[in-house]
Amino acid sequence: MEKLLQVEKLETEFTKDKHKTKILHGVNFHIHKGEVVGLVGESGSGKSITSLSIMKLFKGTSGEISGGRIQFNQEDLTSKSEGEMRKIRGKQIAMIFQEPMTSLNPVMKIGEQLLEPIRLHLGFDEKKAREHAVSILKKVGIPRAEEIMKEFPHQLSGGMRQRIMIAMAITCHPQLLIADEPTTALDVTIQAQILDLIKQLQQKEQMSVLLITHDLGVVAEMCDRVVVLYAGRVVEEANVFDLFESPKHPYTKGLIGSVPKLGQKRDKLDSIRGNVPDPNHLPQGCKFAPRCNDAMPICYQEEPPELKFDHGRTCSCWLYKEERGGIRV
Ligand code: SF4
Repeated sequence: MEKLLQVEKLETEFTKDKHKTKILHGVNFHIHKGEVVGLVGESGSGKSITSLSIMKLFKGTSGEISGGRIQFNQEDLTSKSEGEMRKIRGKQIAMIFQEPMTSLNPVMKIGEQLLEPIRLHLGFDEKKAREHAVSILKKVGIPRAEEIMKEFPHQLSGGMRQRIMIAMAITCHPQLLIADEPTTALDVTIQAQILDLIKQLQQKEQMSVLLITHDLGVVAEMCDRVVVLYAGRVVEEANVFDLFESPKHPYTKGLIGSVPKLGQKRDKLDSIRGNVPDPNHLPQGCKFAPRCNDAMPICYQEEPPELKFDHGRTCSCWLYKEERGGIRV
């Protein structure tokens, strides 16, 4: 399968009072054309910073890519200017966020907000742009599309606003959709509808999707492959079946173990002790060691290498150093 996105040794840092804090430490993963990849981890693991780095959306922050490469369609995004990125954002790579109200302009009618990217990227005249906007609204299941075009975001429900965000994202038929916790702020029944919609559109448009979530149920439902992030590093990568069937990394095992199962008593729920470390005070060696039940002396001294296994799996953990088939990369 052809690779659409290749993230190689990505490093991103933020500066405050001349002090630099590195959030991403050499993140590696790729997405094939038409593939759905889940990026999972707790809050603070670097998921959203990874997506903002791909889009180079650092305006108003001190964030910058300090190392590595992001190849999209064989082009290096890290070397692109802001002007060049503006042509790519929305047209080739689109993004939807957890809370649509942070991205929708509250004082602009839905129609005007939808027409903006259509005019900018597709160059349609007014009539054709309106027809296109209405057809996209219908595609994402918005009833009374013509009337909704004249309404403001606050007049719509949370689920409808998320549908509008998806409509805006797919309006120029992007090759890659980045969905950052797209259903976290919605009711459970609406969540299922929105995930279903993303899946349908992905299949119909043959779009690739990077789905950022902390919800492993969503991952199992939606993804082909999963990348697990911890403290700004990829600790495991596997296809969705292998990951749930036989997770390798103790952190992945902890994440899967903390998902409640039907009939399980609350006091029997497994959880990962402690918290994600402060990026300014990372422990020496494996960053998961202070929380890991399998930690060995070497874990507190040296960071584990990334090991490669069958089916394109990777895992960074000292437990597997001697395992047959594990190749150090
Ligand atoms: Fe646990 Fe050691 Fe593996 Fe880190 S390297 S996850 S501390 S066993």
